[in-house]
Amino acid sequence: MRIFDIHTHPIWHQGGKTPAEERRIIAHCRDLGITRVNMLGDVSRHGFCQDEDQIREINSDSIALAARHPDFYTFFCYLNPTLGERAVMREVERCVAAGARGIKLEKANCAADPVMRHVAKAARTFGLVVLQHSWSMDTHDGASGMQSDPEHTALFARRNPDVNIIMAHLIGCGYRGLLAVKDLPNVWVDTSGGYPEAQIIEYAVEHLGAERVLFGSDLPIRECSVKIGAIRGANLSAAAQQKIFYDNAARLVGVA
Ligand SMILES: [Zn+2]
Repeated sequence: MRIFDIHTHPIWHQGGKTPAEERRIIAHCRDLGITRVNMLGDVSRHGFCQDEDQIREINSDSIALAARHPDFYTFFCYLNPTLGERAVMREVERCVAAGARGIKLEKANCAADPVMRHVAKAARTFGLVVLQHSWSMDTHDGASGMQSDPEHTALFARRNPDVNIIMAHLIGCGYRGLLAVKDLPNVWVDTSGGYPEAQIIEYAVEHLGAERVLFGSDLPIRECSVKIGAIRGANLSAAAQQKIFYDNAARLVGVA
């Protein structure tokens, strides 16, 4: 069964950049059967509300790594929407020219904020999927950056039904988060975040359908093998697992 990891940070706090570390991460993934990896960037470098130069620096790292391993890595363009429309459009255009397949949002602002209209415009203009960091306000400590509760991500999706959105962190969003996006066909959920929880993957498939669940590990913050085991151990058909492990993500970002 092929595996495509949609949610990773191979460069994290500037680790993973030496040639030896770069090789080790790729070998580790391949040993686990992961044949494609999507990078979201070193998104907490320089805090959570980076300036334009810092955003460019983070994305340039992803661009360079993807260029060295084009058959293995895809990447999303990381953005700080609070920098405004011109900065957002400029950076997305630069990243798309270098092969970006989507947009990544972390904690510079909340997904319910008005600045998200710049992100929607960029996604529409360039035909990109948007991956939004999301975590339930019930369980998050709130200590770092601006949080997006699943309800905030759902609001962004409801305002922009023509934009495809990945709500990150199944475990962090929880059962309530799944119900928040259940009736929004433009929202997918990735499996990253936290320890595995019994029954929640089955619950996601029951309410969203296997077509809207994506394998994501959050490497290197979390260990890929744990998340692979959680999906393999879930009570799902082989066909549903194949969709979650590879097919849905491949279709969403446009790779074979
Ligand atoms: Zn992440």
